Amino acid sequence: MTREGAHPSPPSGALAAPEDFPLLAHEAAGDGGLVYLDSAATTQKPSCVLETLDAFYRTVNANPHRGAHRLGTAATEALEAARRDVARLVGADADEIAFTSGTTCALNQLAYGLAGLLHPGDEVAVSLLEHHSNLVPWLTVARIAGAKVRHIVPDRQGRIPDDEIDRVIGPRTRIVAVSHVSNVLGCIQPVERIVRAARGADALVVLDCAQSVAHLPVDLHVLGADFAAFSGHKMYGPMGVGALYARRGAAVALQPLLRGGGMVEAVFEQGFTFKGFPAGLEAGTPNAAGAIGMAAAARFLEGLGMEAVHAHGETLARRMAAGLAAIPSARLYGPGPGGAEERCGIVAFNVRGVGADLAAHALDRRNVAVRSGAHCAQPLVRHLGAEAVCRASAGVYTSERDVDRFLEAVEAARQDAASLMAAAML
Ligand code: PMP
Repeated sequence: MTREGAHPSPPSGALAAPEDFPLLAHEAAGDGGLVYLDSAATTQKPSCVLETLDAFYRTVNANPHRGAHRLGTAATEALEAARRDVARLVGADADEIAFTSGTTCALNQLAYGLAGLLHPGDEVAVSLLEHHSNLVPWLTVARIAGAKVRHIVPDRQGRIPDDEIDRVIGPRTRIVAVSHVSNVLGCIQPVERIVRAARGADALVVLDCAQSVAHLPVDLHVLGADFAAFSGHKMYGPMGVGALYARRGAAVALQPLLRGGGMVEAVFEQGFTFKGFPAGLEAGTPNAAGAIGMAAAARFLEGLGMEAVHAHGETLARRMAAGLAAIPSARLYGPGPGGAEERCGIVAFNVRGVGADLAAHALDRRNVAVRSGAHCAQPLVRHLGAEAVCRASAGVYTSERDVDRFLEAVEAARQDAASLMAAAML
């Protein structure tokens, strides 16, 4: 059904061959073509994922868990096999994974689903590094409950000091919601330490793993979180699908956010009972093709080996950070070149005297794609003393040669930006 296992060999310095990613092949990446350094926004998709999506609609398409006919059974089996594959990638059991439309959906489900535990005077602890998707839902439910959101403040390198964890997590904390890896700085957060503090305070822990799952070996049982969220599209899978992990035993605390078909046990004129986790959280027709595509991506990552994926990101982060630190017109944020082991292949920077958006345009002129802005993390970007930053984020298809082309483009960015401005004024 797919070409899994039949990958061309990668060029030197990449972990997976760009030719195995049709969009990168189309853009002639790696050969003077596109240098795609926006993988933290979304990763490119390998052929095995695209072929899996296509094959689902061509050969299986039926509504899972709803029909006794042959195709309905095949769709149900494919969806449940996908749940097992996605669970295995993050060290979870299949019955601890509910499919959602992505991380944002899963975090909203968690915030609204746990809101009943919050009472006036209670606290939700988050970090100042959070993506808006792991902040706005908590601000919303805390306000409704009369509870308060408190922030664990990282240092200027993006590291969370132990004493900050102990300052914020205490007897009033009911929920701790933190990202595993910052989407702006790429730094890996001390999750085990945070989980220990939360356990001491009898608080539940929600982990935003949107960035970590594609970059690190993640074992949710070992990390000890109660809940976690991640997206298919950031781990080489399709958009519009993601997962919500609930530790066995923790799921009972969750109220379903979406209600309707598929999640109910029995419905009466004036009431209903709903199924347990995960079915109770999967109201409506699921994105079955997406979930199956996400599972193909999980197997693709397993095939590369998550230790190798992590080492690859670390090597590229070290090269990017060292290169940026050596460019006088560039300003690097987060851990310095020596701190590469604390970050994944994500680096934030600015070009001095050039706005982040203009710098990103200048890089784009040289066919280098980076993202600029506040990256849905305005409190963090403000904490860094910036209005906006550029972010270069690598993937398994990124080579050292790509990083070198990126650094050359950053070095030329001031000059290129001036030319762009001059052209705009003509
Ligand atoms: N959390 C983090 C850390 C992220 O990087 C992102 C995506 N940028 C999200 C949450 C939201 O993910 P999605 O847009 O896939 O829902």
